[in-house]
Amino acid sequence: MTIGRIMVVGAGQMGGGIAQVAAQAGFEVVLNDLKAEYVEKGLAFMGKLLDRNIEKGKLTPEQKAATLGRITPSTSLGDAAGVDFVVEAASEQMAIKAEIFRNLDRVARPGVILASNTSSLPITEIAAVTTRPESVIGMHFMNPVPVMQLVEIIRGIATSDGTYASVEGLAKELGKVPVEVNDYPGFISNRVLMPMINEAIYCLYEGVASVEAIDTVMKLGMNHPMGPLTLADFIGLDTCLAIMEVLYEGFADSKYRPCPLLRKMVKAGWLGRKSGKGFYTY
Ligand code: NAD
Repeated sequence: MTIGRIMVVGAGQMGGGIAQVAAQAGFEVVLNDLKAEYVEKGLAFMGKLLDRNIEKGKLTPEQKAATLGRITPSTSLGDAAGVDFVVEAASEQMAIKAEIFRNLDRVARPGVILASNTSSLPITEIAAVTTRPESVIGMHFMNPVPVMQLVEIIRGIATSDGTYASVEGLAKELGKVPVEVNDYPGFISNRVLMPMINEAIYCLYEGVASVEAIDTVMKLGMNHPMGPLTLADFIGLDTCLAIMEVLYEGFADSKYRPCPLLRKMVKAGWLGRKSGKGFYTY
């Protein structure tokens, strides 16, 4: 099926970014969220990002208008009836995603691929609520979507080769670099990244070194663009904990146990940048 019209479900930081990249690549986009004000907020944020690109001389005002003109706001999943591809970027909870996929499966035309941008939930389990598991796949963009090149494409147990090929092609059309991954907890990105962040938190917890020292070692010693504790604050400590829980439960292996300090900080509401306090104060 030729993809011309794409629906993005969830207009938060990831959904907004995916919608922007798709519209800039020339696709018609339906941007869906629970309330019109959430979609408007996503579009307003996108407008600011595009303005910044105009200031930098990377974009013309006409290109900005054309990009926004290709995006249609939506508050009904019924709008999936008119699209050729759906990518879901709603909140990271299995119950929410299962409900969305059940509805999308009822509405979308047969053969339309339903992708999820989940960072950690099993694609196989999401696919199982639909009648088209062969057409369900993970399309894991990185944050911020307009900047980051990688898309992890996750094959559920039933995902067909045709579905994989279509999504790989779409990722390339969006200017991204696709990488094929099978559906196991954390995929590749978070299976490798989160234990590193968790270990950095253990170093702090055990008094091995200070926050600044840990980040400096990884930045200057390993050439990471930011230290693991800075990155944890950026991602959100609640998200980091949720992903460690997925790894811990999914592999039933104690090497993935979340650091008690991470749990304690999340319980305190110290979630990183978004709450104003994490390993650093914002
Ligand atoms: P967010 O909270 O910024 O946005 C989620 C949006 O989904 C909200 O606007 C919310 O109103 C909407 N939503 C919730 N239920 C919905 C429903 N039933 N129908 C339509 N919209 C609904 O979250 P985010 O950071 O954009 O994350 C979205 C997804 O992307 C998650 O699965 C997350 O794991 C994944 N992800 C996040 C990152 C990241 O760094 N934030 C990176 C990669 C992947």
